[in-house]
Amino acid sequence: MEQAGPILARCAEPAAQGEIAPRGTPPERFANRHLKVASIPAMIHEMMPVGALQCNCSIFGDETTREAVVIDPGDEIDRIQAVLQRHGLTVKWIVITHAHIDHIGGAGKLQALTGAPVYMNEADYALVKGLAAQASWLGMPEPQPVSIDVGLRDGDRLNMAGANFDVLHTPGHTQGSVCLLLADQNKLIAGDTLFYDSIGRTDLPGGDYTQILRSIKTKLLALDDETKVICGHGQTTTIGRERMHNYFVSNL
Ligand SMILES: [Zn+2]
Repeated sequence: MEQAGPILARCAEPAAQGEIAPRGTPPERFANRHLKVASIPAMIHEMMPVGALQCNCSIFGDETTREAVVIDPGDEIDRIQAVLQRHGLTVKWIVITHAHIDHIGGAGKLQALTGAPVYMNEADYALVKGLAAQASWLGMPEPQPVSIDVGLRDGDRLNMAGANFDVLHTPGHTQGSVCLLLADQNKLIAGDTLFYDSIGRTDLPGGDYTQILRSIKTKLLALDDETKVICGHGQTTTIGRERMHNYFVSNL
C-alpha cells in the first residue's frame, strides 16, 4: 500500500483475508470498514506465534525503505526469515520486551544472521546471563548467545521501520519488562505484562505482583481505550476491553 493520507471508509467492504490489492485499487476497498475517518500511516505488521510456548513475535516493516524491526524473536528464526523474505524486508533492529527464553531465545541466531543490534532494558541482563539455566528448566536446548547492544529506558522514542516506538518500562513480570507503544498505529506491544483477561505471571525470579499492577495502572491504563494490544501470548485485545473485563485490571 502506498503511504496513506486520510482513509475514508464509509461504505467499504473489508478485503478478504490474504487478498492482495491490485495496482490502482482505490484504498477504500481495503480499508477497515469500522474506521470512519482515520489517518494511519501504511506499515507492514506481521505477528506470528513462535516456539513451544507460542510467543507472539512481531515484525514491523517500512513499505518504502523495506527496513524491519523484529520484536521478540523467541524461536523459529527460519519461519521469521521466510516472512521477512516474502515482504523483501531487511532486519535493522531487534527488540526484546523481556529476557524470558521464549521471547529472546532466537535473538542470538537472528543477530548473527543479520548483524542487527539488539535492544532491551538493562534490568533483565541477569536473565540473559542465565539463559542456559532457563533452557534447562524447560528442557530446551541452550540458545545461541546474544549480546545486548542498546539498553532501553522508559521514555525512549525509537524511530524504526518508519514509525515511532515509545518505550514504557513496565516492571513486574520481570524487572526489565517493557511495552512499546506505536502511537501512529494505535498499537501497544505488551510483552507479558498484559494479556486478554489476564496479566503476566509474577512467581518467577524478578517477578513482583504489586509492581506489575502498578505498571499496568500507571502506564497502560493511561492509554486510550481504542489502543490495540498485541500480547506476548494468545489473542490480541484492547486497553478498553481489559479495563472493562480483566479481573486483575478492572479494579485498579
Ligand atoms: Zn515472560
